[in-house]
Amino acid sequence: MGYVDDVIKMVIKKNPAEPEFHQAVKEVLESLRAVVDANEEKYRREALLERLVEPDRQIKFRVPWVDDRGQVQVNTGYRVQFNNAIGPYKGGLRLHPSVNLGIIKFLGFEQIFKNSLTGLPIGGGKGGSDFDPKGKSDREVLAFCTSFVSELYKYIGADVDVPAGDIGTGAREIGYMFGTYKKITGSFEGVFTGKGLTYGGSLARTEATGYGLLYLTQEMLKFNGIDIKGKTIAISGAGNVAIYAAQKAEQLGATVVTASDSNGWIYDPEGIDIAALREIKEVKRARLTEYKKYRPKSEYYEGKGIWTVQCDIALPCATQNELTIEDAKALVANGCIAVAEGANMPTTLDATQFLQEHGVLFAPGKAANAGGVATSALEMTQNSERLSWTFEEVDSKLQQIMVNIFHNIEDAASRYNAKGNYVVGANIAGFEKVANAMISQGIW
Ligand code: NDP
Repeated sequence: MGYVDDVIKMVIKKNPAEPEFHQAVKEVLESLRAVVDANEEKYRREALLERLVEPDRQIKFRVPWVDDRGQVQVNTGYRVQFNNAIGPYKGGLRLHPSVNLGIIKFLGFEQIFKNSLTGLPIGGGKGGSDFDPKGKSDREVLAFCTSFVSELYKYIGADVDVPAGDIGTGAREIGYMFGTYKKITGSFEGVFTGKGLTYGGSLARTEATGYGLLYLTQEMLKFNGIDIKGKTIAISGAGNVAIYAAQKAEQLGATVVTASDSNGWIYDPEGIDIAALREIKEVKRARLTEYKKYRPKSEYYEGKGIWTVQCDIALPCATQNELTIEDAKALVANGCIAVAEGANMPTTLDATQFLQEHGVLFAPGKAANAGGVATSALEMTQNSERLSWTFEEVDSKLQQIMVNIFHNIEDAASRYNAKGNYVVGANIAGFEKVANAMISQGIW
């Protein structure tokens, strides 16, 4: 057996009951085979892959807080600091009942390569809690965030580890967390990104992941001789990534016909009304069933099925493993030409393979949704400089970063005989930089 297979086997044995982490390691390492085979002796001696799949440290802690009835609740908090070979740990905090160590590790592992791909000096980390902000009052969210950061603060810092938002962690939560950090340490520093604009946040951070997804998709299509203008796009999710992906898609002349949340999905063949979607999700924090009140001709479907609609481009922007092999078959049957992942690992491995085998252009999340973390890194730069750039400055840097990412992954795929395979290209391009940095820095 080769080195890659040995390490995958070891990861599964050493980390039982972490299927998402196994999946992420498999996906990355299998696509690195060409590079690993070419350097096998050196990498084995250095135990490079063994070091890469073992986080620098994983922190797990109790988060007690008092709900509105006076009852004490206890959640579990996590921060996995995976790899800081090229910069301070950087990655979001996920607040969702499904969160466990394996999910945080899968996200932290992917983050190493994504952050490397941005071309900016940021390492990989991820964190979160099984706390569910849905249905909680502002006071309850504040109580949770205060308790969470009163432990987390020991492990983070502007040059050490800089957390950000993710599912369930938006501007409100980052504000409460930043406030707690500042109170405990007395230090006003860029320790979180996604901050409010009046206290160190960056313009265009809110839009960055969704906008970046479209910039990369547009470049991938252009490179393959296709114009995004006039295309029909199916988007899943109705959160931060989905909303701004939909907004940019419309600005580029495409028509977005779907959105979804964890209960169901909407189909609006004339094009989703983004202002209505934003009001429902960002202001009212309500369910998508509300959408029909704004657009009576739209359709609402309970449960799954979003990928059965006719579309040219599919942008999964909700959560992991939401696009399965059956969905991939439906997309191909309906003539879909491109899939780009706004969410992290939304496409299962077999679905990815099926799409690629059927000639669908496929941009993996670690490249396609890297605009969020790239703009977070730009927020860190602005904080260090004590300056604020305009929306246009940040947006144009973001656009350039996404275009560069596409060409880097295209080039890496071509160099290793996998032209057009952007999964392989993204993993190789992200890995090469981290591997070189690790080897140069000795045995850590
Ligand atoms: P939000 O919390 O803003 O939105 C998530 C959306 O996905 C909501 O509509 C939510 O519905 C839906 N959703 C969540 N879990 C499930 C589920 N199990 N089944 C079906 N739908 C679900 O998160 P973001 O938009 O920030 O993140 C979405 C994805 O993008 C995640 O994978 C995240 O890791 C990734 N990402 C986010 C970045 C960012 O900058 N925000 C950066 C890079 C990646 P409901 O409201 O019902 O829960």
